[in-house]
Amino acid sequence: MKAVVIGSGIGGLLTSSFLAKNGYEVTVLEKAPYTGGRFTNLDYKGFGLSTGAFHMLPHGEDGPLAHLLKLLGAKVTIVNSNPKGMIFYEGETFHYREGWKYLNWRERIKAMKLLADVKRNKLPEGEEAGMSGREWIREKIGNNEFVDLFIKSFLGWADSVLDVPAGELAREIKAALKWGGPGLVKGGCKAVTDELARITEESGGKVLTRKRVVEIDPEAKMVFTSDGDELNYDILVSNVGIKETVELIGKDNFDRDYLKRVDSLRPSEGIKYNVALKGESRIGNTVVFTLDTERINGYNEPSSISPELAREGHTLIMLHHALQSRNVKAEQRRGIEDLYRIFPNLDEEGEILLIQTYLDGNPVNRVASGQSVEDFPIQDVYIVGDAYKPSGGIEVEGIALGVMETLEKLGLGSFEKWYL
Ligand SMILES: Cc1cc2nc3c(=O)[nH]c(=O)nc-3n(C[C@H](O)[C@H](O)[C@H](O)COP(=O)(O)OP(=O)(O)OC[C@H]3O[C@@H](n4cnc5c(N)ncnc54)[C@H](O)[C@@H]3O)c2cc1C
Repeated sequence: MKAVVIGSGIGGLLTSSFLAKNGYEVTVLEKAPYTGGRFTNLDYKGFGLSTGAFHMLPHGEDGPLAHLLKLLGAKVTIVNSNPKGMIFYEGETFHYREGWKYLNWRERIKAMKLLADVKRNKLPEGEEAGMSGREWIREKIGNNEFVDLFIKSFLGWADSVLDVPAGELAREIKAALKWGGPGLVKGGCKAVTDELARITEESGGKVLTRKRVVEIDPEAKMVFTSDGDELNYDILVSNVGIKETVELIGKDNFDRDYLKRVDSLRPSEGIKYNVALKGESRIGNTVVFTLDTERINGYNEPSSISPELAREGHTLIMLHHALQSRNVKAEQRRGIEDLYRIFPNLDEEGEILLIQTYLDGNPVNRVASGQSVEDFPIQDVYIVGDAYKPSGGIEVEGIALGVMETLEKLGLGSFEKWYL
């Protein structure tokens, strides 16, 4: 059986690894000169920045991605964050558990009941599932400013949006209760995607860079590249997004209702600030959710477990916020003001290395969390990656859940216990 995979992002390479290991004749076609898409390292002034991610897995070594990596025998080291999170509020940075003190006893009881309900799978349904997640929390716990700011920064950091439907938020909370908090990848994102490319190739697959796919013919089951290659497939895996795959196949092959639904899908967009600070590690392996800020939603410190990601004598901090308007300059200005709120002595202690903006064709997520995506309507074509994340799956954990679904459809495993 021949499988063609378009795109070598983490979604494409995870799938290609399983297909190759299961005897498929796999070819991965990647338009860029490098593999890994938005999940690989970017060397910059002696620092290991990244093309996208914060070198972090939302559920660390106990999440769905780590599970798939284990099944593949991937040699990747993931170190769970400890503490799972911290909070920056009223000028102080503290362990997330201390946040309970901002809830009165009535709110605490309601919050604990909500967490117990979510854990028992008592999730919002019907109209309630579609309401604003933040409003849902307000209805359940009360109008508590600290709680609302915490949910806002969690969503801004984890999903790069400032609200999601209640059904999605409840599943993300369930995922965190089930699989725990985040973890950093030793060596950064590249350690994962390079290993997946290696596994694909070691299992007989080909991973070709500088190969841009320009057309798919689903009748003839052929893929065409810009430099004239023609490949036929039994199954086609697309890691380039739903809209983009529809374009490659041609809109004429889809009914109007489907095209309308595809058109309504929205990406999540955001800005990442890479900061170098002189001296030792500052916060260690954790995430700080920033509540007292205009824009920044959170930050981490990838060099805390991988010193090689920072230049000698420095540590690397990555901060992020969801885009709140299309005025990128103004967004960055406010983001930078926040950097000085968090690190008041930034000018003496370090520097802003690089600001990366993710929008339009290079977003944070091709389909923002909380939108439902149905099966792709063309036979033997499967979508993987961040355009196809089952509900509750945050970032690459959602990508892993989507890959699990694809593998199940192909009869290559059973992952029922992972679904939220
Ligand atoms: C600022 C930021 C921070 C993030 N932080 C995290 C984090 O810490 N943890 C986390 O889990 N997630 C994080 N994410 C999200 C995560 O990085 C992405 O969801 C994930 O990397 C997307 O992977 P993918 O496989 O869907 O797509 P991509 O990585 O985009 O891969 C798609 C590939 O397809 C190629 N391609 C496109 N068109 C064609 C074509 N026509 N022919 C051939 N090849 C083509 C592209 O070049 C690309 O390599 C972050 C994202 C951003 C932007």
